[in-house]
Amino acid sequence: MRILKFGGTSVGSAESIRTVLSIIDASVREEPTVAVVSALGGITDQLVSAIALAEGGQSHWQTLLAEIRRRHLDLVPELVAGDFRQGVAKSLEARLTFLANRLEGVQLLRDCSPRVRDQILGSGEYLSSHLLNGALLSRKIPALLFDPARLIFARARGAEPVVDFEITNAQVRQALEGLGQGTVAVVGGFIAGGEAGIALTLGRGGSDYSATLIGAALKASRVEIWTDVDGVRSADPRLVPESRILTEISYREAEEMAFMGAKVLHPKTILPVKKAGIPVVIRNSFNPTFPGTRITADPAQTLPGIKSLSLLKNQISLSVQTPQPLSGGGFNRPLHYALANLRQAPLQVNQFNTGQEVQLLLAGDSVAEFRELLFREFEGGGENDNLPLVIPGEPVAVVTALHSADREQWGERMVRQLRREGISVRGAFGGGSDQTSVVVSERQAEEAIRVLHRIFIDEAAEWQEREGFGRLGRVS
Ligand code: ASP
Ligand code: MG
Repeated sequence: MRILKFGGTSVGSAESIRTVLSIIDASVREEPTVAVVSALGGITDQLVSAIALAEGGQSHWQTLLAEIRRRHLDLVPELVAGDFRQGVAKSLEARLTFLANRLEGVQLLRDCSPRVRDQILGSGEYLSSHLLNGALLSRKIPALLFDPARLIFARARGAEPVVDFEITNAQVRQALEGLGQGTVAVVGGFIAGGEAGIALTLGRGGSDYSATLIGAALKASRVEIWTDVDGVRSADPRLVPESRILTEISYREAEEMAFMGAKVLHPKTILPVKKAGIPVVIRNSFNPTFPGTRITADPAQTLPGIKSLSLLKNQISLSVQTPQPLSGGGFNRPLHYALANLRQAPLQVNQFNTGQEVQLLLAGDSVAEFRELLFREFEGGGENDNLPLVIPGEPVAVVTALHSADREQWGERMVRQLRREGISVRGAFGGGSDQTSVVVSERQAEEAIRVLHRIFIDEAAEWQEREGFGRLGRVS
């Protein structure tokens, strides 16, 4: 069994979808295949805007919905053969009517409940999966459409729903295990079924996660994530044009990269597959012969060195001070409560010995949330008079290197090179043996990542190639 996931740009136009059909066709000749599909490129963003307009009491969402409608219905005659045309168009129209009704309700109420929001947002995948299914059948590829809300089960909890792996595994196996040779199951990504049968969405970019959840349940031979780039790079090419495609990385590296700001994969994508050891391959549907990046438990050994650099901007260094050490373990308890409930974990926590001060490195947009959680704890504990001082510093940026786990002093070496180039470094910290971050001002952040890439990746790779040590990665 093989899982192929197609992102929004890969199904963005009739031409791209034709390529996708060929990719699926080649796959089903080898193995039963599950095709997980995102909404057509840009649709989810339009749905987000439509909700915002309706919530504001405006009717302009109708213009957006008309565009969404046109875009899908125009593809039907292009991709779907005569026999299937009417059926597909009818399913699309039914969902578009559903969508119009929901948005009308939101406009009337000037309010959108989380569940209605999920129903609206997930509609893009509903539409794209019906379209793809019809296009596959028209190509005489045996396709079966499955409802993702009956495969993936999640519970609504806070900002993002929590998937129940046990129930999901059982449901996916029951539905898809028997998939025959030569057949493709089509599933809209992003959507999960919640309690009481109400659909949820898995967070923006969540179709990657859908694909690996299904892949893990079926013990798939691999999960291919088809997108519009050649693979995972040593750095964001918008910042570092010379960045290289990494041919192989580990699960851990992929997770760290997603966490540290690289936008290739949804952050939870690796979670379901890493225990089962199922490879994830990032591939480019606009360059389908390129092998892409393979993510596995133990990628082929590369030489010691820095493999990739990522950049997180808008981080705030926050100092939290209490007037006096509080009873019962200082302010550890409220502090840890606040940190544990924060939607985005801080990059660094530094506690000083007195028990009266802690320094945090936190995403800029989490500061207000943190302050609120912390104060709520103090007030709840009757500690109104002892409210801590929360003092934010200037926004900074964090450049993180993933490197070989060895005794090289990567932090020191990075800091030395940056200083040599006139970049002032505010701090450095490690995240395990194979990860080092440096903190710089936002103003110098992009220069910092370029300097580090030139010295530790370009020059190192050139040297290795010259010395015949093979390649670190390939330049596409
Ligand atoms: N369509 C959804 C989004 O744009 C999910 C996905 O594409 O992965 O966030
Ligand atoms: Mg994506």
